[in-house]
Amino acid sequence: MKILVVNAGSSSLKYQLIDMDGEKMIAKGLVERIGTGKPGHQKQVVGKEVYEVEGVMIDTHVQATEMMLKALLDEEKGAIRSMNEIGAVGHRVLHGGTKFSASVIVNQAVKDAIRECIPLGPLHNPANLMGIEACEKVMPTTPQVAVFDTAFHQTMPPKAYMYGVPKKFLTKYGVRKYGFHGTSHRYVSKRVCEFLGISQLGTKMIICHLGNGSSLSAVVDGKCVDTTMGLTPLDGLLMGTRCGTCDPAVVQFIANNENMTVDEVLNMMNKESGLLGISGLSNDMRDVDNAADNYHGDAMLARDMLVYGIQKYIGSFVAAMGGCDMIVFTAGIGENNGALRERILTGMEWMGAKLDHARNMACADGHATECVISTDDSKMKLLVIPTNEEIMIARDTLELVKH
Ligand code: ADP
Repeated sequence: MKILVVNAGSSSLKYQLIDMDGEKMIAKGLVERIGTGKPGHQKQVVGKEVYEVEGVMIDTHVQATEMMLKALLDEEKGAIRSMNEIGAVGHRVLHGGTKFSASVIVNQAVKDAIRECIPLGPLHNPANLMGIEACEKVMPTTPQVAVFDTAFHQTMPPKAYMYGVPKKFLTKYGVRKYGFHGTSHRYVSKRVCEFLGISQLGTKMIICHLGNGSSLSAVVDGKCVDTTMGLTPLDGLLMGTRCGTCDPAVVQFIANNENMTVDEVLNMMNKESGLLGISGLSNDMRDVDNAADNYHGDAMLARDMLVYGIQKYIGSFVAAMGGCDMIVFTAGIGENNGALRERILTGMEWMGAKLDHARNMACADGHATECVISTDDSKMKLLVIPTNEEIMIARDTLELVKH
């Protein structure tokens, strides 16, 4: 069966068509600048064939979905002959609140629940819903599945997910830690055990998903027990443009002094902070690294802050789990930036994490593969496992629709 994996953002639609017979990606595409009032852009790659559309106004997600199907069905550069070849569609959905601890087939109740979670994911959930409804409209007989970024973290115990504000805010509005990147954390925590040929039961691990957005999770017996992101993806590590954990009083302080609203401060903390806000240069770690290597003071500071934050969370998760068997790195930075992994792990030998310099540097800069990067005598195993959220979404979708 061929499964279409859709990731609808507020102004973009990313997709992959995966043949589940062998789990091979056969098409990958992107429709950008939807509803922005500016001419849009579409690009699809199928093998060596590139299908590109430039300069067309794309007003709605329905229009973008129609463009996606047109590209997939293109006689010369497409991937399929008929829409019936798409067995099901799996959608990435950001926030499932406490309602979803696993993926589900979309029906009216599921859509209502995703809508109810909009206050928790105001930027993403409306777009995800638009993506689902657009696919329903252009593929009315094809089953749709929702896969939630928050689902994997639903196993966290109350002591990990509660905030110390009055409990009525949990009951009234669902104010608590949810965590994100769950599909990636689930894929990597499972895949690493398959790679090592061990059972998930009896393992304690820390997954470091380090990309433009970053989060760590503590996983015991294959189940998440804690994670660094919170009610929203703003919490935890310093990220590309997000500040990560910060005294909440900073919001009030900046708002009062700069005459800004709370929303404006939060927007600044989400979009103008992190590596970008500290280095003053870029949200991309490659740019920050280049500048830091050339002794740019603020780039060095941004990198130091990122490394220090990751080290602190690793330490706290090791303590919280009462030990740790492995630390696994994934996503853009985690997979490719060997030098940063070395900075993070240097000084962790005391707790049994011994990095093998050569193994680590062999797995970097676009050469990321599944590999062990610790020494043979390291008590804690250190690994790189490239993430694959699309495969996880496709597998969940297949599992749900095949019966
Ligand atoms: P997103 O969270 O948007 O999915 P990614 O997982 O793609 O982000 O990660 C983006 C980050 O990964 C950037 O900071 C970038 O510097 C880094 N990165 C991506 N590819 C490479 C590479 N080949 N070498 C070094 N760093 C990389």
